[in-house]
Amino acid sequence: MKSKFGLLIFVLAALALVAYGATVILSKTEPTSPEAESETIISAGTYSYTEATTENAVSEVVSLAENVVSGGYKYAYAGFNPSYADLTGTQWNLILVNRNYILPDNYEVKLAPSVESVSDSAKLDYRVAPHYNEMYLAALEDGITLTPLSGYRSIERQTNNFENKIEYYMNEGYDKIEATKLAATHILPPGTSEHNAGLAMDICSLYQNFDETEEFAWLNENAADYGFILRYPKDKEDKTDIIYEPWHWRYVGVETAKKIKASGLCYEEYLGLA
Ligand SMILES: [Zn+2]
Repeated sequence: MKSKFGLLIFVLAALALVAYGATVILSKTEPTSPEAESETIISAGTYSYTEATTENAVSEVVSLAENVVSGGYKYAYAGFNPSYADLTGTQWNLILVNRNYILPDNYEVKLAPSVESVSDSAKLDYRVAPHYNEMYLAALEDGITLTPLSGYRSIERQTNNFENKIEYYMNEGYDKIEATKLAATHILPPGTSEHNAGLAMDICSLYQNFDETEEFAWLNENAADYGFILRYPKDKEDKTDIIYEPWHWRYVGVETAKKIKASGLCYEEYLGLA
């Protein structure tokens, strides 16, 4: 049924192209008229994507070695002494990583591009990427582009970002301890960020205030249907210890995302930890 429908679309599209003498190259993953074909494309695309990414996922190993100094965490001087995140007692999509829970050394992340048709788009855990892709296509149908700015981040990159932020606050006149604490409200120390696990995406817009954009409005309305939550909500800074980040969306799965959204709680509160 599906293949007949696909064939019909292909034939019609080919006829249309011939009729107009167009020289457009047909692409399976980038339909020229998503409005008309989206339903078929989304379901078929997501299915094949899941299959493909299982095979083609690229592995990265989270190595924290450089962040361990004489047996302790490098940022312990500022009060960061995270325990290892619980990876065995919990489902992979529910892993809690924050300033108190760090990914274990040598944690293996398998990655895939977040947008299937853009091979160099920001990467996510290969089990999350198909859900982002599905959400991306659904938003596109509504005229919204959920530009994936930053997904998986290596420990090296996280360390650089964090160190730069510490330096920024030191240049502002704070001592190293205070500068490190302040830096961590914007960028988590290496190994304690959901980006290091490929579980979250920072979604970009052309506007500076992301929470005033139509992209944000769309995400608020629909992201839970694809398993994503607003991880660092407004007025929850005292629970998450992170500034309000309207651009940061974490995958937890549809069921949990809907529950969290309905509860109005942040993830730490939902887990009974704040
Ligand atoms: Zn983020």
